[in-house]
Amino acid sequence: MIVKDWCMFCGECAGVCPRNLIEVKESTLIFDESECRDCSTCVKVCPITALEKE
Ligand code: SF4
Ligand code: SF4
Repeated sequence: MIVKDWCMFCGECAGVCPRNLIEVKESTLIFDESECRDCSTCVKVCPITALEKE
């Protein structure tokens, strides 16, 4: 997953990942890609299209 510069760290994507792989803290987004199943739920929920699948 690529996180674009315009991410506003709202945490929406972190809240919907069924595997809890995304953590948003202040101005940081941490993504544990080892367990990602490419479901795209996080990509679809981002209100400003700041996540992109690689
Ligand atoms: S939902 Fe989008 S803007 Fe919000 S933290 Fe996730 S990537 Fe960033
Ligand atoms: S694609 Fe699915 S499994 Fe991977 S981080 Fe996003 S919501 Fe989680």
